Amino acid sequence: MHFTDTIYRNPYWPTFPLLQITQGCTHNKCKFCTMYQDVPFRLQPMEWIEEDLKEIAEIAPDAKTIQLLSANPLCMTYDKLAPILEMINRYLPKMEYIYACTRVTDIANKTVDQLRSLKEMGLREISLGSESGDDWTLERINKNCRASDIIEQCGKLTESGIDFWLCFLNGVAGKEHSMDHAIHSAELFSQCKPMLVGTGGLTLFPGTPLLEESERGEFTPLSEKEMLIELKTFVEHLTCDCYFNTHHTTGIHLSGPDFLKRKDKIIETLDREIRYGDMDRLAAIRRNKRTL
Ligand code: SF4
Repeated sequence: MHFTDTIYRNPYWPTFPLLQITQGCTHNKCKFCTMYQDVPFRLQPMEWIEEDLKEIAEIAPDAKTIQLLSANPLCMTYDKLAPILEMINRYLPKMEYIYACTRVTDIANKTVDQLRSLKEMGLREISLGSESGDDWTLERINKNCRASDIIEQCGKLTESGIDFWLCFLNGVAGKEHSMDHAIHSAELFSQCKPMLVGTGGLTLFPGTPLLEESERGEFTPLSEKEMLIELKTFVEHLTCDCYFNTHHTTGIHLSGPDFLKRKDKIIETLDREIRYGDMDRLAAIRRNKRTL
């Protein structure tokens, strides 16, 4: 297999088969991310993609799911992406479910009809690294997209019938803007109605502009308790039914389907953690994290 440099796969998806179709990230400027700092963006050569598919077909000819890599594989135009999906179906004729993580802006270069056609070829589920639904925050972290872009592109996905996830990055707005980040994100996510809402907590990794800003006193990170308060505020304002998924460092179990039925319980659990949780332990866990 032609896996190059850093690759990211969604940990909630099967680890096999994975098919890398791009290298690096087209944007590579989010202030909290170092994942692809040293990896120039490139489309994976078609010969490599075909060789990898042949290899997968030898091991798992009946594969029904596949995850496309790397940071934002759907950045390609329809004309480039469609032949890759056709090739997947040719080598893996039982393919039912193609999944990819990508940027919100990657949907913009495709029409609803093109998205429908990609869905017919098996593209069923996309995870969008939105991080926030708050314009101030999106600009602050250099996400290069606005809340209105998220609404527009998610609307196209809904129209085309492709399921999508939206991700909330807890803590990324810093102390001063925490509540706006939580409330505006929850309101925007509720409007977009994703199948899954994912949340993760900000860790300031060495080499990130946000850590440098924090060291200069220009960004004030949240304490562990403040992270939980922000997460609770986000949950309180989230009104769409969805699978709710969180990998907060607490280790408390908040993930599962039927968010609206479980919402009060989630808030209660977060409340308890805010009051009685061991914040030093949480801070220690975060200090030991090595990657997003
Ligand atoms: S967070 Fe995603 S979009 Fe932003 S730089 Fe990292 S990989 Fe690229």
